[in-house]
Amino acid sequence: MSRDQYIPIPLPSKCLVYENTDPDSILIRPFKGRDEALIAELTLENLKKKFVTIIENVIQGITPQELTSGDAKYIILWEAINSYTRDYPIDIVCEHCVQKVRVVCDLGEIDSVDLPANFKQPVETKLSDRAVNLRLLTIADEIAMFSWTKTGKSAYLYSFALSIVDEHMSIPDKLLMLEEMSTADLNEIRKFHTKYEHGPDMRVPYTCSLCGYEGKLVLPFRLDTLLEFRE
Ligand SMILES: [Zn+2]
Repeated sequence: MSRDQYIPIPLPSKCLVYENTDPDSILIRPFKGRDEALIAELTLENLKKKFVTIIENVIQGITPQELTSGDAKYIILWEAINSYTRDYPIDIVCEHCVQKVRVVCDLGEIDSVDLPANFKQPVETKLSDRAVNLRLLTIADEIAMFSWTKTGKSAYLYSFALSIVDEHMSIPDKLLMLEEMSTADLNEIRKFHTKYEHGPDMRVPYTCSLCGYEGKLVLPFRLDTLLEFRE
């Protein structure tokens, strides 16, 4: 028996993309010392793989690699708020007075976007001369993309290739198809990913301490920086 206190977490995907997964069965606990030890060892090189271990330790009911990128962001934001603090200081250039100013954002004010309740993948997307079946990207995909870019290749078409569901095509086949594709067709694939973006909406309000301007800024979503602000 574990004495860890796990509580339910409502993921933005509503678990609609996971097979046989009951949304009510997904549980989470705040970070502890041993998690923080892992976080302290995060480098750009091991970020993605260690991230999986960190998530595995705090989440129950789902395999971390299967998480959509949107759900993973939501989990990290949850940990930032519940393990540390809602206050997130960041240096920005005020868009009104154009001065450099430090603002403190409230992570608790970040809205989250859910997948539509009727979402079911793969989603058939019609192109000019064919149709392709598309799915959302996962943590496993992001790890694959990370390794891909480390070899100096562009992740741009590769991410689209990963999202194409077709058991008769290999990744090189899909890449070749994408390389030959018209930009209009490519845009249809991009639109699928934009349409079903889910997870935290990182635009947060700020008030400039120099001129009083109330604006909005987009918080950078980097694992290391989002967890870095702890004292
Ligand atoms: Zn200002």
